[in-house]
Amino acid sequence: MSEKKSSLLMHSCCAPCSSAVLERLADNFDITIYYYNPNIDTPLEFMRRAEELSKLDKLGIKYDVIIEEYISSEYDEAVKGLENLGEGSQRCYECYKLRLRKTAEFASKNGYKCFTTTLSVSPYKKVEWLHDIGRELEKEFGIKYLDEDFKKQGGYQRSLELSKDLKLYRQNYCGCVYSKAELIARRHCEKPKATKQSSTDMNHELRRTNNASITSGSPRCARDDATKRSKR
Ligand code: SF4
Repeated sequence: MSEKKSSLLMHSCCAPCSSAVLERLADNFDITIYYYNPNIDTPLEFMRRAEELSKLDKLGIKYDVIIEEYISSEYDEAVKGLENLGEGSQRCYECYKLRLRKTAEFASKNGYKCFTTTLSVSPYKKVEWLHDIGRELEKEFGIKYLDEDFKKQGGYQRSLELSKDLKLYRQNYCGCVYSKAELIARRHCEKPKATKQSSTDMNHELRRTNNASITSGSPRCARDDATKRSKR
């Protein structure tokens, strides 16, 4: 990492949101993208969103990427009893908290100067909740939370433009199985019906159908590969 810039661990929900934030912050920070999203409904979708991050190297910005292990039970436990409350509810608050806490913890253990999340790019996310959680974690872990609202100053619009330019996959639901069911229900004016498979079952399904690698144990670090990809 360079001497001049502060090191930033940037929680990423997906490549489209990350694109505009990466571009905005690259002049002032050495950025590591931290993809921790156990909320995503299937391992296939988890990997699809993760793999899109490699396309950001077309921005000509140097960055590292860390893909955390997919353990959907972490999300299940965090939202237990809140599953049917709908998008924008306490379920989402707990989902934000889970992902931000893990990011702050990782940043603190690994010597980063600050952390943030790309979640505020989306107009569907409650930025005041993100900042409340981030500031609490800042105190708890003693690491600076960057409390920007990245949708402002045209951030959301820029994420749309970059998604188009870089041909990024843009998902049409937030991530969890409930948000997908809610989307389908909205389209059909029905009551949402969501079911969950266990993480073990889904990881097995992924290996069987896609021959992809889901790591267990310590996080898989794609830092070296990403650094090579992003160097110009
Ligand atoms: S709708 Fe999105 S933010 Fe809310 S719980 Fe589901 S994945 Fe998390």
